[in-house]
Amino acid sequence: MGNKREKSAKAFKKAQKVIPGGVNSPARAFSAVKMDPIFIEKGDGAYLYDIDGNKYLDCVNSWGPMILGYNPPQVINKLKKQLKNGTSFGAPTEIETEIAELIVDFYPAVDKVRMVNSGTEATMSAIRLARSYTGRDKIIKLEGCYHGHGDSLLVDAGSGVATLGIKGSPGVTKNTAEETIVVPYNDQEAVEKVFAKYASEIAGLILEPVTGNMGVIAPEAGYLEFLRKITRKNGALLIFDEVMTGFRLARGGAQEIYGIEPDLSTFGKIIGGGMPVGAYAGKEEIMNYIAPAGPVYQAGTLSGNPMAMQAGLATLKELKNKKIYSQLESKAEKLEKGFKRNIEKLDFPAYFNRVGSMFTLFFTEQKVKNYQDVKKCDQQLFAAYFKEMIEAGIYLPPSQFEANFISLALSDKDLDKTIEANYQVLKKLKV
Ligand code: PLP
Repeated sequence: MGNKREKSAKAFKKAQKVIPGGVNSPARAFSAVKMDPIFIEKGDGAYLYDIDGNKYLDCVNSWGPMILGYNPPQVINKLKKQLKNGTSFGAPTEIETEIAELIVDFYPAVDKVRMVNSGTEATMSAIRLARSYTGRDKIIKLEGCYHGHGDSLLVDAGSGVATLGIKGSPGVTKNTAEETIVVPYNDQEAVEKVFAKYASEIAGLILEPVTGNMGVIAPEAGYLEFLRKITRKNGALLIFDEVMTGFRLARGGAQEIYGIEPDLSTFGKIIGGGMPVGAYAGKEEIMNYIAPAGPVYQAGTLSGNPMAMQAGLATLKELKNKKIYSQLESKAEKLEKGFKRNIEKLDFPAYFNRVGSMFTLFFTEQKVKNYQDVKKCDQQLFAAYFKEMIEAGIYLPPSQFEANFISLALSDKDLDKTIEANYQVLKKLKV
């Protein structure tokens, strides 16, 4: 593969004139790896094709949604059919109830679901709901977790905020930022201290139950159980942000695999099957606080959009088949074994974390269990790795603070190719 990217370079120059930073979401910029972003023409199965005609095996999958790979016929056919009937009505459709029923079926902690257009809207609305339901203002958030760009949650955030090294929360009022208390992930004592000081003021604690936005980190044994207990004891809501993990780690998300029932859950990514969708959900008593059933206002011109609902429903229907998760697990396990073998063979200073079909290769030798550990990673080495992997035809998230995603479309051959590229690149980078 020649991997020439002149057209992408030109497109980026043109975009920068009319779009801030040339991209519509900072995570798409390649600034941390000191490259120009690659402009995409199309996706097919497990592969992305750029506008210069280069082909890449994709480990980003649109940052998670494309769990079935690109253009799965079940989804595309539904979209084509809906296109003929109309793309938006601003009135209820039966398909919205059908998708909500499926979510209720997959998630025992959920009785009711409200559809929105992004993960950001979902978490923003869940926080508002938690505040209204409890009559309290403060929120506990975990350092390095990212919950979209709503004001209350844009404090010590991961993902693009971490990648770009943005300090504080520019544009967020001091008062709003002060209502968000940040503690390290996997640290029970820090949460105990906050509850000891502010117990009656805390509306809720929100977290990514398995983190993806500072790279993949699993909760330590007992951590989620501890959070469930302490929030319940203090009358605060436990909010699982499953925008990334929902329908990915299992049909019923992280809450299924760890056996914890949060009070509220937020969803996005897979739930829209590649279309812009988010949702927040929970027990009836709490969800009935939302207008028009209750007083908490939240609305959307395009919420429950029929195109988006069709793509989401077709995807979720595929995921009804639990075998899909064992297939994803065996693909991910193969990759993990291969990467770990490479690291060991080359005695390379790297640490591999994986939960289900999400993984991160951290450029540190230490165990990674929170944001402070991720910050110790060798960013320069990551950038060199990223660049070489792109040259080898493997498309990765352009940041150490992100998760890689495996899709069902990856074949055994694709996995072998990725493992071999990882070996060759690490060998080249070994000094
Ligand atoms: N929550 C989590 C856990 C996420 O990973 C993201 C996005 O990556 C969001 C919320 C925000 O979702 P969106 O980008 O759809 O607004």
